This record gives sequence, structure tokens and C-alpha cells, in this order.
Amino acid sequence: MEIFKQIAPLKIFVEGIKRSGKTIGLVPTMGALHRGHISLIEASKSQNTVTVASIYVNPTQFNNPLDLQKYPKTTEKDLEMLEKAGCDAVFSPNDDEMYPEASILKFEFGSLDKVMEGKYRPGHFSGVALVVSKLFNIIEPHNAYFGQKDWQQFAIIRQLVAELKFNLVLSSVPIQRESDGLAMSSRNLRLNETQRVHATIFYHALVMARGALKGGKEIEAVKKAVTEMVNQKPEMRLEYFELANSKNLNILDNLDNAIVPILCIAGYAGEVRLIDNMFLD
Ligand code: AMP
Repeated sequence: MEIFKQIAPLKIFVEGIKRSGKTIGLVPTMGALHRGHISLIEASKSQNTVTVASIYVNPTQFNNPLDLQKYPKTTEKDLEMLEKAGCDAVFSPNDDEMYPEASILKFEFGSLDKVMEGKYRPGHFSGVALVVSKLFNIIEPHNAYFGQKDWQQFAIIRQLVAELKFNLVLSSVPIQRESDGLAMSSRNLRLNETQRVHATIFYHALVMARGALKGGKEIEAVKKAVTEMVNQKPEMRLEYFELANSKNLNILDNLDNAIVPILCIAGYAGEVRLIDNMFLD
């Protein structure tokens, strides 16, 4: 597995691959890898000759400096996992390489970034769009893989690719979960024992809500039940729970005429912020 810390040699590497007619799949990550990330690598390997993963904790997408400071870093283990998964190359730049000068460019996604994550993490998606655009321009992959775990991010990157005409195909890969249902996340490493036990409540709330809505319960009643369910657990606090149209992220207050609805949840386990989601069907 080739490891690149700088853009110039990485570009030479990818140009060589493309000249020989091979395809490149890109898997952007922030490291602290788990089985969810590896499922993206596997998806890429099944559809491309060469898979490139990036590991970069992108400062411009953190609205909370403490969250950035405490973001887990397990670089050696990450490289071992990627090697074992058959990843061909890793790009792990430092901040000077990605942001030689402070960035002033901002992205706006209209109604897509006014709700849910966008509402509670102002500037987050601008930073995501900035770093993902840099990665797309540097690597120019044929395919890029993102997790359903960050569904709003996927919807926003899809808009970015469509509007800026990035010449690549995006894929969303299903959420990988721990055996008790907790969505895998790098931030799970920060949970203490009690928080880890109770953090499954976000998953259980989604399952309960899906059943209740399908059984005809009103969304307002379901929201109330979810709020009580989460907040009664020690150290757990709900930030939002929404039913949304998965394509345009419009918040729905009922299921009438809903097209591919998705349930999205976010909250805190202690000071660790977690998100999860589930399609209704
Ligand atoms: P991150 O390192 O958290 O920025 O995530 C990198 C990519 O892995 C993103 O596209 C995430 O959506 C995806 N991802 C994170 N957690 C999971 C999971 N549990 N299952 C599948 N994909 C995931």
C-alpha cells in the first residue's frame, strides 16, 4: 500500500493509473477507522481497479473546537486495517498541505444545510464541501464512496457533484452497526462504559419510531416519545429527531405523499455527539 502525505506525488501516482486505463475509487475518511469505513473500501474495491483512501481530520468542518481537539487518532491501526482490507493507496496530508493559506471560500446549500446537522453545526457542511472538493480535484476519482450514516452529508455532496460537474459517480454504503445496534462511529471510542451501554438508545428510538409511524401514529406523538425515551437514559440527551424527505431533506410532519422518507436522530452521550438514521422502508 502506497502512503502519500503530499499532493504532488499522489497526483503523479493517480495520473499513471489513469493512463493505464484503470479506474480509481476514493474513500474519504477522518481516520479512527472501524468496520463501517472498511465497508466503503470493500465497495470501492468491488467496482474499481485501484482504491485510494484519505485520512484527514478536516479542521474547517468542526464548529466545536473541543470536538476537533478530542477527535480520536489511531493512525497506525488505521494503516494496518487499510492494508488488510486491500486498499491500494492512502492520502494522509497535514493541515499545511491541505490549507497552505487560511481558506476564505464558503459553500451554501440552501434548504439542504438549514436543517438537522446544518442547523446545529453551523459552517459544518461548508467545511465538508471544501475538503471534499479539494480531494476530488486532487485525485479525480471515477467513483467516490460515502456512508449512509451521514445521510445529510451524502445529499449535500450529491448536490456539490451535480452543480460543479465533478466527473465522478457517488455511492452511498449502508450503515454498519455494532451487535447491539449502535451505529459504528469513530466518536464511539470516546464513550465511557456507561455512555457506551446507553448510547444504543438512539438506535432503539429509530426502530421504535419507524414501527410507530408505520402503524399510523402521528409524528408529533412519536417525537415526544423519542425525546422521553432518550432523555430518561443516564447521560443521554436528544438534540433533534426528524422525519425528512431523503432526497431534498425537507422536514415532514406526516407521511402523506412522502417520497423515500428517512428518520434522522442526533444527540449527546455525555459530551460526545452521535448521529444515526434509518429509512422508513
Ligand atoms: P468519517 O471518518 O466519520 O468522516 O467517515 C468517513 C466515511 O465513512 C463517511 O462517508 C461516513 O459516512 C462513513 N461511515 C462512518 N460511519 C459509518 C458506518 N457506521 N457505516 C458505514 N459508513 C460509515
